[in-house]
Amino acid sequence: MIGIIDIHCHLTFEQYDADREQVIEEAKQVLKGVVTSAVEPEDAKAALELAELHTDFVFVTLGLHPIHVGGKTDQEIGEYEEFISENKGRIVGIGEIGLDYHWIRDPLKIKRTKEVFVEFLALAKELDLPVVLHLRGTGSEAIAEGLKIITDEDIRKAVFHCFTGKPQLAEQICEEGYHISLPASIVRSKSMRNVARRVPISHLLTETDAPYLSPIEEEERNVPQHVKAVYEEISRQRKIEFDETEREVERNFERVFGVELG
Ligand SMILES: [Zn+2]
Repeated sequence: MIGIIDIHCHLTFEQYDADREQVIEEAKQVLKGVVTSAVEPEDAKAALELAELHTDFVFVTLGLHPIHVGGKTDQEIGEYEEFISENKGRIVGIGEIGLDYHWIRDPLKIKRTKEVFVEFLALAKELDLPVVLHLRGTGSEAIAEGLKIITDEDIRKAVFHCFTGKPQLAEQICEEGYHISLPASIVRSKSMRNVARRVPISHLLTETDAPYLSPIEEEERNVPQHVKAVYEEISRQRKIEFDETEREVERNFERVFGVELG
């Protein structure tokens, strides 16, 4: 049976502390799988525990979000990388990792972020895992730069999470063989709708980034089942049936993350 998938959310975040199990049970009614992405070491432990409780439904990627790079020593980062290597068999990817020019503006901090980003790319290569990329800020600059870095580093499998760039850049990313993930906030974005229409469907993925980016109201807490809005929008834009979008995204998900949903 086919179903819908949220390839990027944060079920470990405090916004779910009061009712996490209920949120996941509700998600299970609607979804076939979710990927929760860890943003730093403590979060990584929580994410692995959650996946343990929900085998074959909650999948995990472990990464270091650019805003969590600052303040971490080389040793702390090294230990975290070791932790990730040790848990390789329990994860489906490295992420989220990347660049953030919205929050990080200081040149020295930017430099450090980039170095750590490249280090995690090397880790992904070593472990033969796909990367989930957070590239944000100054128009499409962070995305274009991220694309250059991953091609230079010879990364084979990458997902541009919450893609906010121009359709042309999306096409370029797909030509390199990488994947674009669109969030439920697509309902508010003409540019994302153009991307949904223009890139090959074999390169599209679907996400919520919950608890963020609710399709209903920006400030409201988002939940994984809202990913349905992305499927609806992709289907509408491409003039295809909902279940065709489901089939395509599921196939893409299985190929990129090496998961069989059954
Ligand atoms: Zn995220």
